[in-house]
Amino acid sequence: VFAGIAQAPEDPILGVTVAFNKDPSPVKVNLGVGAYRTEEGKPLVLNVVRCAEQMLINDPSRYKEYLPITGLAEFNKLSAKLIFGADSPAIQENRVVTVQCLSGTGSLRVGGEFLAKHYHEHTIYIPTPTWGNHPKIFTLAGLTARTYRYYDPATRGLDFNGLVEDLSSAPLGSIVLLHACAHNPTGVDPTVDQWEKIRQLMRSKSLLPFFDSAYQGFASGSLDKDAQPVRMFVADGGELLMAQSYAKNMGLYGERVGALSIVCGSADVAVRVESQLKLVIRPMYSSPPLHGPSVVATILRDSEMFNEWTVELKAMADRIISMRQQLFDALKSRGTPGDWSHIIKQIGMFTFTGLNSEQVAFMRQEYHIYMTSDGRISMAGLNMKNLPHLADAIHAAVTK
Ligand code: PMP
Repeated sequence: VFAGIAQAPEDPILGVTVAFNKDPSPVKVNLGVGAYRTEEGKPLVLNVVRCAEQMLINDPSRYKEYLPITGLAEFNKLSAKLIFGADSPAIQENRVVTVQCLSGTGSLRVGGEFLAKHYHEHTIYIPTPTWGNHPKIFTLAGLTARTYRYYDPATRGLDFNGLVEDLSSAPLGSIVLLHACAHNPTGVDPTVDQWEKIRQLMRSKSLLPFFDSAYQGFASGSLDKDAQPVRMFVADGGELLMAQSYAKNMGLYGERVGALSIVCGSADVAVRVESQLKLVIRPMYSSPPLHGPSVVATILRDSEMFNEWTVELKAMADRIISMRQQLFDALKSRGTPGDWSHIIKQIGMFTFTGLNSEQVAFMRQEYHIYMTSDGRISMAGLNMKNLPHLADAIHAAVTK
């Protein structure tokens, strides 16, 4: 019955790894997927995560029972505290409902489905460009995705005027997806001043913020600093949605651990919102997994482990920042034509190089360097060994 089925295309991001794995070259470099690698090019399990896992294994009181539909209650509480701040008035007033979801993607999807069912406006504005999965997630959830201007290729910075114009002309009450920090793929974030203007504009037009926080701690190295834009929106008393992922900042990629929070207008509304979130989740996957949130809760509840996490997180962020400088210096020393200062200005895991799809294809063909066709490279995949090879490849691509 499926004989006539069409071959689907590879995912534009995960497909890069598929192609990389097939390449037998010893010099190949995968800068496609945003996964942290050590200076030795190896995946990293944080020491504090290993410790938490040991503690869990050694605890005989732990069972493998189902979690409730909404997940591990303590994990949910701690996650809300992590992003909104321990002293958040919204938390103190019990206006925040948090449900454990399948990493960032699952949190976005559950939030999208909830909005499609219960919110009067079905249009969600997403930035151009954005993480390639965003439009698909929200469209399948039942929303209509439209775009707002975000990145200006001419300045390789934020198109702030375009953003303001587009959000100003969005219908009242529209949903707006905002990257909380370390915008993917551009690495360009608004300044605090610009965030404040965006907040004022959105609140004046009753635009509903849906924050995607996949990189808390990765932008500046500080969890609190990276959460500042979100906290500005919570501080004004208004409503918002928040999708959190622990994939990158705790290195828990495959454990699929994340949370969706909805900041509501009152405690009473929050109770009803939670009851409806359960109706979204139950027919989708019944209840979320147990191991990942148990690891996260073990770390977040213990001040010593929490501190160790922040040190390890900062070390990852700092290594990426140092790779930015090294790549910039390597291109400068090669005399590569063009202004490459955006490499050191951009924030987070990625550099939006400005290389076009032809140059990207050339670098894959001739240098076995793999990145997404929009010229995005994951800085986390770079190290002192493969960086000169990348600089050679970029130099060859722009001078050929
Ligand atoms: N949002 C953004 C902007 C991302 O870059 C990612 C990961 N690439 C995610 C969400 C979700 O990732 P995950 O589902 O692995 O948490």
